[in-house]
Amino acid sequence: MNDLSAYYTAVDREIFALLDYFIALQHDFERRGGHDPDGPKKIEEFNRFRALVDMRTKQRRKVAEERAEQEQLEMDSRTQVFCLTCKAERKVHIGGEQRVDPPGVMCDRVKCTVCGSEFTAQVPNTTTGKLKYAEYLLQVLTMVRADGRSLMERDHKQDDVARLIKSIKDLKKAERDVELEDQTRERNRANADQKLVETRDLLLFWKLQNSNPGSQGGMA
Ligand SMILES: [Zn+2]
Repeated sequence: MNDLSAYYTAVDREIFALLDYFIALQHDFERRGGHDPDGPKKIEEFNRFRALVDMRTKQRRKVAEERAEQEQLEMDSRTQVFCLTCKAERKVHIGGEQRVDPPGVMCDRVKCTVCGSEFTAQVPNTTTGKLKYAEYLLQVLTMVRADGRSLMERDHKQDDVARLIKSIKDLKKAERDVELEDQTRERNRANADQKLVETRDLLLFWKLQNSNPGSQGGMA
């Protein structure tokens, strides 16, 4: 997809309108026989502004595409789950979600595309849910019972506990990574937006100077 127009903001469009205004003004001036030795330099400058907007817009589109890709990956893992009837990994359709208590996490209600059976997926549908679920299972396995032993000790579940501890560590890292990535993206977006607002304001200032013949300077 090469069309950037879907990603232009109101400020981008304002900048384009201002640039169109200045370029038309410049051409009009020359058509009426006027000579501006700085004309080509000005047009070059306007094109540079346009390129700046397009560069920012491409960054915005890239972020949107990365986010969509991430969401697609998450959706892929939610629609590929273990079916207890088929006793195999199957592609499923998500029909809704259901709260699983304890520990109070949301899991997808799904329908197997092979056998048609409907069931609740055994894995929570968000990273936060998965983390909560793993922490709950760990607690169940390691809590000391009335007989003075934990389920881990009684049922020899040491491997499960080790797996859960690793899984909790990985999920926490995944959550932190996503948070940091979001913060970085947000900071970059805010900086880029600020830069464009400054560009728009500068162009507005030039336009104001231009329509005020008594003033000095200005672009066109
Ligand atoms: Zn099935």
